[in-house]
Formats: sequence, structure tokens, C-alpha cells
Amino acid sequence: MRNPAIIEHSEHKLDAAKISKNALSVLEGLQTAGFEAYLVGGAVRDILLGLSPKDFDIATSASPEEIHKLFRNCRLIGRRFRLAHLHFRGEIVEVATFRGNPDDCHADTGIILRDNIYGSLEEDAWRRDFTMNALYYNHQTQTITDHTGGMQDLQQKMLRMIGVATQRYQEDPVRMLRAVRLAGKLNLTIEQQTAQPINGMADSLLNIPGARLFDELLKWFFSGASFAGFDLLCTHEIFPILFSQTAKATYEPNVTAFLQYGFQNADQRIKDGKSLNPAFFLAFLLWPPLQIIMKKHQKNGMKYFPALQLAIDELLTKQRKILSIPQRFTLTAKGIWLLQSRLTTPRRKMIYKTFNHPRFRAAYDFLLLREQSGENVFAAADWWTRFQEVSNRAKQCMLKDLEKKPVI
Ligand code: ATP
Ligand code: MG
Repeated sequence: MRNPAIIEHSEHKLDAAKISKNALSVLEGLQTAGFEAYLVGGAVRDILLGLSPKDFDIATSASPEEIHKLFRNCRLIGRRFRLAHLHFRGEIVEVATFRGNPDDCHADTGIILRDNIYGSLEEDAWRRDFTMNALYYNHQTQTITDHTGGMQDLQQKMLRMIGVATQRYQEDPVRMLRAVRLAGKLNLTIEQQTAQPINGMADSLLNIPGARLFDELLKWFFSGASFAGFDLLCTHEIFPILFSQTAKATYEPNVTAFLQYGFQNADQRIKDGKSLNPAFFLAFLLWPPLQIIMKKHQKNGMKYFPALQLAIDELLTKQRKILSIPQRFTLTAKGIWLLQSRLTTPRRKMIYKTFNHPRFRAAYDFLLLREQSGENVFAAADWWTRFQEVSNRAKQCMLKDLEKKPVI
């Protein structure tokens, strides 16, 4: 083990005003009780990069039971490695006891089976993923402890895996997804030896439970940099592993452009502080392969709706083999897809039923996305935009006109 660098405030200049009051009170409580306590992980990294973190992780020498005794608002979670969640109004501060070296606890695949051994700060630092995620901020002394060279990497915006990257990806393939997500979100360069093994190892992500993969993908989608992340996921050949049906569809014209518009749209919504439903992400990501499967069924003589229903079932069955997508999201995505034909060929009798449908807004946004990416749905998109904007009387006129002259 190397000597740590202790970095003074005059050098790192971490803006402590960006640390939540609750996180500060937890740090203080632990230190007053005689334990070591540090802010660590994404929060330190993001503040040093000038961003405002959304959550705060604390690492401490106190055991979960000691944390529990100290704070009334504490709940211990996790069976394998117990974490303390300290509940405040509108915020949960996660406190973890320093973790030790799991050494020989590997399965044949190299995946870590046991990492529930407590350790020292040094050990805790070396088992983290990237050097810039292993910076420990001590609020009492305002110093940062850096065992892995993370500060220099952070200054150079270089994402570097701690230890031997191949082995660390074997232990936990999700680290590949984290590398790509963080590089996209924070505009980092992935250091060469950290990046190089990913392409060849991406298929080991298939050994990861679908629910964990889905959670990690949601973080990517909500990062506000999903567009940059998509590019990196493709470059590192992760995208075709997780979304094989969509990746195959990108050989068709305009599909890549359609996906890019989808990601840009999502990033813009995050920037504007607008809500974003994960179902929308699924809806646009799986739309291109859905079209292909559906056309195949229609070619074989099926009518539009049965072909669409069958295609949806086939598409989702295959996708669920890799990602566990909660049903509430697939149901919403289905609603968006099923409403598309009602939107593109508005019929007088169905207008209000469509307009009052709980998925109308999402389906309309989806139609705009199709229009933006160059699909020939301009007239329908324009009709629905006007229909929402005009008075009730004008709406009646539009309905009458529709009888004389259908939109498409
Ligand atoms: P963000 O919260 O912006 O997604 P983060 O780095 O804080 O990024 P978390 O999932 O909150 O991500 O993890 C907190 C810290 O835990 C990380 O910074 C890293 O030190 C450590 N960590 C998380 N996942 C892993 C992993 N798979 N392997 C090793 N260390 C990890
Ligand atoms: Mg975090």
C-alpha cells in the first residue's frame, strides 16, 4: 500500500457549501462520537468538477450497529453488506462502513461473491471502481485523502480504473456500464487501459441480473447526457449486447437519427427541469425493431392491430431476457405505441377518446419525435398540435373538416 496524499483545502478548494446540511450533520455526529467519517464517491467528484451532487455518500469506521445506535433516523438495509440509510425530510444520506479486501471470494467467472468484510479507509479506497471515486473529504480538517491518484486524474478529466481493469470488470461487469455512463455525463476521457478491455468483455454484462442492469440504464437515461452516453455505448459495443434488436434495426435508414433525436429530447427535458418517464425511453428505443417485426407479420397477411400486438409481445419477451423492465413501464410504452395509428390517422369518432386517453400526452410527444426525425407524419402532428391549442368551438370545426378531408 502506498502512502496517501493528504490534500489541503488551499489546493483542492472543494466548495463545502455544496454539501447538504444533512450530510454535514452526519459527518459531524460520527466524528464527535470518535469515529472516522468522510464524504466520498460521486459527491466529492462532482463538487470538485463544479457540479451540484444529487446525493451524498459517507464512509466511516463505525460499524452499522454503531451507526444505528448513534442516529434515531437510521435504517439498516442490505443483507450481504449492511448499509445505513439516514432518513431526513426529502433526503437519504447513505453511510457505509469501510469495506475490506474480498480476496479469494470469486466465482469461476471472476464475479465477486463476497464483499462483506469490514476494513480500513485504505482498503475501502482500493476496492472502489475509479480513482476519482475514491477521494475522501474530511470536513473537520477540510482535507482530502487520496490513496489512488484520483485527484490528478480528476484534474485531467481522466477516468481510470483502480487496479487491473480486466480483473475489475470480471469481478463486476457493471463497472463497464458505469465507466461509459460517467464518461458521457462528465465529459471524461476513459484512460486507455480502462477503455481497451471493454469491447471484448461487454458480453459478460449478460451475467448480471436484469434488474440491476435496468437500474444502471435508468441512471444513464436520466443523466442529462444520454446522447453522449449512447455514442459511447455503441463505440464500446455495449449497446448491441443490451439492445440487440434495436442495434440490428440501425441498419435501416433513419433509425440512428431517430434514436439520436430521442436522446437529445430526453437530455433537453432534464435541462429544462421537465419530467421524464422511463417508459418514453423504452418506447423510442424499441420502436425501430417493433416496426420491423410488425411489417414482417403484415407481409404474411396479418392486419395492422393483430400484427402490432404480436410484434409487441415478441419484442418485449426477447428484451426481458436481458433487462427486467417493471411492468408499469412496459404498459405505458405499449400505450404510446398503440395510440400512434390513432394519432397518424385521426378519425372523427375516435378524437375525444384519443384526446382523453391517459397516455395521450406521451403518445403525442412521441409523434413529435417521429416527425423531428424525418418520418412523414407532419400533417398529423400539426393537426394534433392545433387541436390542443384552439378553443372548443374551433375544435368542433376541425372535427367537421376532418369528415370532409382526412388528415392523411
Ligand atoms: P452517481 O451517483 O453520479 O451515479 P456515483 O459514483 O456516486 O455516481 P454511486 O452508485 O452512488 O455512483 O456509488 C457511490 C460510490 O460507490 C462510487 O463513487 C464508487 O466509489 C463506489 N461504487 C459504486 N459502484 C461500484 C462498483 N460497481 N464497484 C466498485 N465501487 C463502486
Ligand atoms: Mg452517488
